[in-house]
Amino acid sequence: MITIERLQKTYNKFTLSINFIHFEETRTTVIIGPSGCGKSTLLRLIAYLIKPDAGKILIDGIELDAASSRQAKKRMGYVIQEGGLFPHMTAEENVVLVARRMGWDAQKMAHRLHELCEITSISPDLLHRFPLELSGGQRQRISLMRALMLDPPILLMDEPLGALDPIVRVKLQSDLKKIFQRLKKTVLFVTHDVSEAAYFGDEIVLISNGSVVQKGTISDLLKTPKNAFVTSFIRAQRPPDELFRNL
Ligand code: ADP
Ligand code: MG
Repeated sequence: MITIERLQKTYNKFTLSINFIHFEETRTTVIIGPSGCGKSTLLRLIAYLIKPDAGKILIDGIELDAASSRQAKKRMGYVIQEGGLFPHMTAEENVVLVARRMGWDAQKMAHRLHELCEITSISPDLLHRFPLELSGGQRQRISLMRALMLDPPILLMDEPLGALDPIVRVKLQSDLKKIFQRLKKTVLFVTHDVSEAAYFGDEIVLISNGSVVQKGTISDLLKTPKNAFVTSFIRAQRPPDELFRNL
């Protein structure tokens, strides 16, 4: 589904450099690593919000470039930590923005909104509120609705739960996991939280200082770490006991 080859992106002294990586269809891959290691840069490159200095990204075999990016962007939904909703638009206006620009008629839009409210457990009366009139958890559900509006096969999520308090976060984690499975999306999920990575990730990609250190299941990272950094990163966060159960 998504293949990365010899990708490079440099900012001053920082370089993200990925020789090869492949993300498989309908799986959730968690991208994890310390702050500043390049997680958001990787997601922005895939979303074609920024361009690589070298190398390429292929989506279903088609190289991302200026010409192909318009179509590719319709195949990807993107959710960031703060939601990224436009504050001067209601929740509904945010969700339907792209579909409206694409000329969807009112009936098709209303039907899709209804579906999305059901999928994300959002009460339709919240759709008329502005982002600041919603709780953090509701805002992230609306951001997810926006990302899902065109029913893209790929979801890019950059620390979508990072700003939420623990109780709201746990509920959204469990809802999100069910949504990913039900809709069979290919998900790239960024977090710096090891237990969240273990919870979501069919596979985990651990990045350090712009390079992939290890790709594998949480069990691989725990049992056969590539180097001492893998172990120290995973153990440092002292993940809950359930993470180690059945391993
Ligand atoms: P992460 O998401 O893992 O915390 P980022 O991908 O945001 O890390 O950043 C990786 C590195 O690239 C950091 O050193 C950051 O300062 C730098 N960086 C990211 N975006 C920019 C930018 N637009 N201009 C300059 N430096 C940037
Ligand atoms: Mg980031």
